[in-house]
Amino acid sequence: MSDLMEKIVSLSKRRGFIFPSSEIYGGLQGFWDFGPLGVELKNNIKKSWWKKFVQERGDVVGLDSVIIMNPKVWEKSGHVKGFADKLLECKKCHHRFRGEDISAVDGMGGGCPKCDSRDYEEEKEFNLMFDTYVGPVKDSASVAYLRPETAQGIFVNFENTVNSMRLKLPFGIAQIGKAFRNEITPGNFIFRSREFEQMELEYFVNPKEDEKWFDYWVEQSYQWFLDLGIKKENIKKRSQAEKELAHYAKATVDIEYKYPFSAQGGSASGGEKGWAELVGISNRQDFDLKAHGIKYKDDVPQEEYIPYVIEPSFGVDRAALTFLLDAYEEIKGGRTTTTKSIKEEEVVLHLHKDLAPYKVAVLPLSRKENLIKVAKDVYKKMQTRFMAAYDEVASIGKRYRRQDEIGTPYCVTVDFDSLEDKAVTVRDRDTMKQERIKIIDLVDFIRERLGL
Ligand code: ATP
Repeated sequence: MSDLMEKIVSLSKRRGFIFPSSEIYGGLQGFWDFGPLGVELKNNIKKSWWKKFVQERGDVVGLDSVIIMNPKVWEKSGHVKGFADKLLECKKCHHRFRGEDISAVDGMGGGCPKCDSRDYEEEKEFNLMFDTYVGPVKDSASVAYLRPETAQGIFVNFENTVNSMRLKLPFGIAQIGKAFRNEITPGNFIFRSREFEQMELEYFVNPKEDEKWFDYWVEQSYQWFLDLGIKKENIKKRSQAEKELAHYAKATVDIEYKYPFSAQGGSASGGEKGWAELVGISNRQDFDLKAHGIKYKDDVPQEEYIPYVIEPSFGVDRAALTFLLDAYEEIKGGRTTTTKSIKEEEVVLHLHKDLAPYKVAVLPLSRKENLIKVAKDVYKKMQTRFMAAYDEVASIGKRYRRQDEIGTPYCVTVDFDSLEDKAVTVRDRDTMKQERIKIIDLVDFIRERLGL
């Protein structure tokens, strides 16, 4: 694992962002839990996405469909037959490869990358859907699947949604929710896991306008990351080549990020080291609605046709990893110039304010009773408006660094002068600039700074 990834994995565990799932029993490969700060980050990512892709538009509505649906959904969508990866297993060391990794091995002369043996089990097709049983009888008639994407829940609710909301083309239906894939090679922390969340938008258009809308949604998706502070040099758009396209897709653009690892399999970008899929935007044409036998009637002109669908498909967990990686900065010797630097390593997580788990931390300068009382009052006031932290343990410098490391944009220090002037010092995470603000004005000040 790269140095940066190791640091992110360790920070995530140490500071309560992400934990290995069921760790006390040795964990389970491909499953991760989000801790107290991780759940805030994830919720903020979802909130920001929903605001841009649903709330601020008049043409997109939301949906929350179930994870386990009638298995016919997955038969018709092609997943039962086709949502499979090629699986190759080395007979000697039992190393397993998937999809494109097999071609990569072929390209390197055919030896197993782990043990160099050329003795493999027969290549198999491996369906990535998890299955389960519905009801008390476990037989083939009761088999059901955990959804491997949220999109199909949208397609099967197309008619109900259109009718109840009186939707007219072009319009979109958005959904955020869990998806499950029994990945052959989960890894790179939460980049590829077996249980994850997706944020998907299915935007239905007149087939004559598909290319215009496809370009539009590629730009909107890309812009969302830039608006949330992802560095331009670390993100790019890549059109999939014809041979890479899924069978239903007329075109697909992957928004890729420059990860500090080489991703395996399908999400690895055309061979370029580090770059891998963060989001995929596909023109799925009329494949899905047709597969489910769904029609749409437009009033003008009076014709019945099947809309095309443009799908931006985001992974919440992959986005969370990307925001953490991109925000991480390590400063050798620390940033303090006013006092003699303690020469320790300082970490600042420059998360966008919308994404930061805590927006503000309240820190009394000392543990004197009268200071604590004021600080706790200020904390209470902050909590009613923002996710706020309170910390009275260790030196003020240490406490600033604790908050910098988890990306808290503002620290509010209550000092002895506060008792007299009824004001506090607000410190900015990125500039370290300090401003004296009256307690009575503090909520408005922070709110304005956060753009709320
Ligand atoms: P890959 O090629 O990496 O397997 P995919 O092309 O099959 O991915 P899509 O079906 O397009 O992925 O899924 C849309 C998005 O969902 C991806 O861009 C990614 O952000 C997220 N995603 C897909 N699979 C996983 C996974 N196993 N773990 C975490 N996120 C995932």
